Amino acid sequence: MHHPTRLLIYGFAIVILMMITLAFIAFNSSSIGTSDVNLKVTRQLEKISLINELSTIIQSRTRFMQSMLLHDDEFIEDEAWPSFNRLSGAYTETRERLMPMLAPREREIMEAIDRLDRDINDLNRQVSVLFLNGSRDEASKVLLQEVLPKTAPLLSHLGELTQAQRMDVQKALLLASSEAEESRTHIAIFSVIAVVISLTVTCVAVWYGRKLSGQLQDMNTYLEQKIYERTESLLDTQKELLEDNNELTRMALTDSLTGLSNRTHMNQILYKEYSRFERHNQRFGIIMLDIDHFKRVNDNFGHDTGDNVLKKLAFIFESAIRTSDFVARWGGEEFLICCTTIEENDLFPIAETIRQLVGNTEFETVGQITASLGCAAIVKGETIGELIKRADIALYEAKNNGRNQTVVSEFTDLSLPETDLG
Ligand code: GH3
Ligand code: MG
Ligand code: MG
Repeated sequence: MHHPTRLLIYGFAIVILMMITLAFIAFNSSSIGTSDVNLKVTRQLEKISLINELSTIIQSRTRFMQSMLLHDDEFIEDEAWPSFNRLSGAYTETRERLMPMLAPREREIMEAIDRLDRDINDLNRQVSVLFLNGSRDEASKVLLQEVLPKTAPLLSHLGELTQAQRMDVQKALLLASSEAEESRTHIAIFSVIAVVISLTVTCVAVWYGRKLSGQLQDMNTYLEQKIYERTESLLDTQKELLEDNNELTRMALTDSLTGLSNRTHMNQILYKEYSRFERHNQRFGIIMLDIDHFKRVNDNFGHDTGDNVLKKLAFIFESAIRTSDFVARWGGEEFLICCTTIEENDLFPIAETIRQLVGNTEFETVGQITASLGCAAIVKGETIGELIKRADIALYEAKNNGRNQTVVSEFTDLSLPETDLG
């Protein structure tokens, strides 16, 4: 993976871990407070319910004593006493449960309650004995004048305890609400930090992404430029190769001394003309030209002078022939002219014009020279080789007849209609 991308992923992982840790801390600080308060409140409520139980037991006991004095018949029966004793047992049991829960100050109150309770119990016993001995008035007197006045402060002590618990519960709730407020603040701070971190990371990521994409774009532009340059240079090379190739082709088809087409090129031209003749019956002819006694020119004036004569001759031929015709150096001091779209009779005047041009030209150093020419027009069924052969024979005839003249090869074209033969 790309190095900066990996860094970015690590950055994101660290931020997510940090956010999870912060969330955990915030959640814990709020939940610890809440569970503490819950426990405290539950304990206070339990204490309140035990205190209430005690007060109910004491009230029941007093009511029992009152009922005993009002309804003596029922209390003669044995069943009433066990339930009274049960109430006393319940008091002891409830008190035992309550005692460990009490704070030192509350224990003092509880001890005062115990003292009062013991006194009340002793008095109750007196009341019972008096009652059972038949001194009901005496019993009522003790109950009204001694038991009941002691019961009131006892209940008031119990009320005091209950009140203290209520206060504690209120305090715990107040604490809980302040803690809740605190945890709300924690969560708010955490949220702000999380948002700030997220925004920072997002900004960094966006900035980095832009930087990376910028770099990529630069690289792309650079590569495109390189490709363009390479393509250009390739095209240039291709163009150069094509030019070189064209030059080579031109050189392969050109005679280096005179700049005229060479024998190879002339052969191509002849084949092209030959196929045109075969397809469209368009006749062409050739004129073979040989300089007379050229050896003497070399012998008398030197090879270079001979070369200059050949160059000048090339110039003369090129300017003398029609634009549709071609001229080539066939070899040595021998030239071949291809005349397109002709009849057999056309060749002679063309050849004569050229022969006279050569004869009338004054060559530097050399003076005047002459040339012999052999002409032949293509006929149906004839090959190019046969055509050249006929021109060559005509030239040979011109030489033999004394040079500086034109001979046209007579050849009846049997395949052509009579009228075409003239
Ligand atoms: P003929 O009238 O019978 O044609 O006589 P000729 O002397 O022209 O004939 P021949 O074929 O005996 O001689 C041709 C001469 O042409 C021989 C050669 O030295 C000369 N020659 C051929 N090519 C060149 C060339 O490129 N430069 C020069 N300077 N001379 C050449
Ligand atoms: Mg010659
Ligand atoms: Mg020759």
